[in-house]
Amino acid sequence: MNTVTVVGASLAGLYAARELRAQGFDGRLVIVGAEPHLPYDRPPLSKSFLTAADTATARAAYSAPGTGTDAPATSATDGATGPGPGPVPGAGAKSDPTTGNTPTSPAAYESAPTDPLALTDPEEIADLAAEWLLGVHATGLDQHSRAVLLDDGRTVVTDGVVLATGASARRLPGPQPAGVHTLRTLADAHALRADLTRGPRRVVVIGGGFIGAETASSCVALGHDVTVVEAAPLPLLPQLGPDMALFCADLHRKGGAHLLTGTGVAGLHRMAPAAPSGATAPGNPRPGTSGHVTAVELSDGRVLPADVVVVGIGATPNTGWLSGTSLAVGDGVLCDDGCVTSLPQVVAVGDVARVGGVRSEHWTSATEQPRVAVRNLLAARTVEFVTALPYFWSDQYGSRIQFVGHRPADATVRIAEGSPDDGGFLALYEHAGRVTAALAVNCARPFMRTRRELRARQTTAA
Ligand code: FAD
Repeated sequence: MNTVTVVGASLAGLYAARELRAQGFDGRLVIVGAEPHLPYDRPPLSKSFLTAADTATARAAYSAPGTGTDAPATSATDGATGPGPGPVPGAGAKSDPTTGNTPTSPAAYESAPTDPLALTDPEEIADLAAEWLLGVHATGLDQHSRAVLLDDGRTVVTDGVVLATGASARRLPGPQPAGVHTLRTLADAHALRADLTRGPRRVVVIGGGFIGAETASSCVALGHDVTVVEAAPLPLLPQLGPDMALFCADLHRKGGAHLLTGTGVAGLHRMAPAAPSGATAPGNPRPGTSGHVTAVELSDGRVLPADVVVVGIGATPNTGWLSGTSLAVGDGVLCDDGCVTSLPQVVAVGDVARVGGVRSEHWTSATEQPRVAVRNLLAARTVEFVTALPYFWSDQYGSRIQFVGHRPADATVRIAEGSPDDGGFLALYEHAGRVTAALAVNCARPFMRTRRELRARQTTAA
């Protein structure tokens, strides 16, 4: 295999690149990323990034809209200069004839400030010896000519492909008024943070899932008046089951947010557009803010006044660009248990991958799948399966929630240590006389022990 192209320059893509080199692939490695940034960490975006008092995170090379690093990255041949994630020509680096791109130089990052979101560093960038095509979308896979097509008209002829295009935040239908946010990317987080630093606000969070709950918690910590709207009877019901979902509902209430469950959203109210003359139109008391959200209307008729709305209603896998290929797709790229897709020499990892029927949208899966996927890619067949147990964590209202394992719908829950009333406990999910999953709240040690036991049992059973 001479060339491998990783599509998606984020968590799973970076781990795939690392694995390719670690497993001995010494050919040409191309990494295509739609965002203009080197891989950065998303979990802090709903947590510390929103609540941090200083803007150190926002100033660093990965972010700072308007500093040049947020502009679509130029290719090396465009002669971009200075610190930042775009491909920058390095001294003596050779331009690639197919893409016209130059291997990224570690020198380009030497002056970049340390960034708490950064997933990589100049030394690793140098070691990976990859061509980073950032700010570039892959638009198709030509399976006959074995090429990845790019939105700037170029193509990368490749022997192997790692699909790591992740997912995009789902939006409410229709145009999105100002003040309405989703939270998936660094740009999203900057926009939300900017709105939240304009003084006390009425924030409505639509969706009580992990992103919604964490964002609500961060907004409360910032002193905003927060209401969470969840269509299901309890937040996180499908993920955690009724007992633990009830606990999470209490976290909102005890944490200081209002929680409205069992009701959907009928629509958003916005300010009337400003009069063409620039004069204040009736019903628009603040010229210049026309089209700004003013309230959320619920399906039961209630209207919640809002200055800021955060839409946290899930994410859709980024597979649209693969239409037209014979790749099997259905809520993610369909893979076998080893991340191998229906096309030869194409594997998928992370949030975009449906591995063995399950699409796991968690940080740990995106870091564990690449080792197996790359092994199978280099072997040109499935020689290993992903066996890791699903694991995720979430930080809400000062509580760290950790979950591991599989939760059958009819599992029962037993508190094994601590107590929900004390805010710290370990809950075990049991099914057919066996522990199949565990959830801990501020109970890290017992949780890690249980995680090890579950993992050991799974390994023995395999
Ligand atoms: P992504 O991180 O989505 O990256 C995919 C990349 O591919 C993106 O940069 C995208 O722009 C790019 N791309 C898409 N289409 C194309 C294309 N056509 N061409 C080129 N590039 C493309 N998980 C936890 O376990 N715990 C947490 O506490 C937690 N908190 C989170 C908080 C937030 C705000 C978010 C958004 C996620 C959180 N997660 C958490 C989930 C975790 O971050 C994801 O599971 C992880 O980022 C998935 O990595 P990925 O590389 O598969 O996808």
